[in-house]
Amino acid sequence: MQNSKLDQNSGVEAALVNRTTMNGKPVIWVEAKSVINFKSNFSHKLLCDGLTLSSGSSCGYSCSFCYVEDLMRKNPHRIANPEDHTKIVIRRRNPVEIVKEQLTRGNGEPKFLNEEDRRVIYASPLVDVAANMELARETVEICKVILELTNWEIRLLSKSNLLPKIAESLSGYRSRMIYGVSTGNLDDRLAAAYEQGTPKVSKRIESLWWLQDSGYRTFGMVCPSLPLGSDSDYDRFAEDCAKAIRADRCEHIWAEVINVRGESFERTKTALKEAGFNAEAGWLEAVTYDKAAWEAYARKTFEAHAKVYESQPGKLRFLQYVNKASQAEYWEKQVPRGAVLL
Ligand code: SF4
Repeated sequence: MQNSKLDQNSGVEAALVNRTTMNGKPVIWVEAKSVINFKSNFSHKLLCDGLTLSSGSSCGYSCSFCYVEDLMRKNPHRIANPEDHTKIVIRRRNPVEIVKEQLTRGNGEPKFLNEEDRRVIYASPLVDVAANMELARETVEICKVILELTNWEIRLLSKSNLLPKIAESLSGYRSRMIYGVSTGNLDDRLAAAYEQGTPKVSKRIESLWWLQDSGYRTFGMVCPSLPLGSDSDYDRFAEDCAKAIRADRCEHIWAEVINVRGESFERTKTALKEAGFNAEAGWLEAVTYDKAAWEAYARKTFEAHAKVYESQPGKLRFLQYVNKASQAEYWEKQVPRGAVLL
């Protein structure tokens, strides 16, 4: 059971109560050998140094564009639970204990407690780290173990407004924690249409400002952003986002267009239409079936952000998948301006 000795000692038994539902979804517990991935591709995104952690395999939230279902197709947790991935929460049993095991030798000695080893670990590539208070508390306990057993820095990204709660619990480690919230859309109603179950973007931004005003390290995550109606809208969007997240106080700003994979496109388009955002659904449809239009959307989004951060070299990290030589010619030239080619 999840109430291990370690968990009881660290006082998180309440956080690890075996609930049957979470965020309105059934919770499925799975056995796992790892929570930390030591060889993650997320290093390509410059979010970490190849280390990621994930205490779950299916998120409490239900964003229509979520790529995790697609990513997890061959994962045993997914295969063992073939229900609609967006309709269940999958949690790994004893995540705190597993992390402790991954970071120590058989005799309990820390494996990675090297002064020089200041790598950044990112959470999470698969789930939101604070989709509710219980998961936020679990994240705190996992972070505590990492902070005590290594000298790593931890980057946490969330679509919630609960990061201040995590930050307060880990305030003794503030120099090693970096916090960011997703703000791919500043319109609360529009974001709610396709980021189902998440707190309002305005509340996330409030939490980001609290972190900044309280002296915590922060980063920006302006993604995924939708196609817009006109060229000037892209410039306005990038400027508004920089203002909203107080980009000058963020260490780096990640940005990305919406990358539609698997069924996520149909889900997002339907979600937009159902919420009455027909124009936005149409703009998304127009770029999805037309590769040139998709490329133009990505370039306009990039150019708008690049203009905003022109005077701050190294600040922007615009994630862009580049598959064709015809695309590469343009994008390779944009690397010094902040394009990160995937
Ligand atoms: S918060 Fe992230 S992991 Fe969770 S559903 Fe949304 S996109 Fe997927």
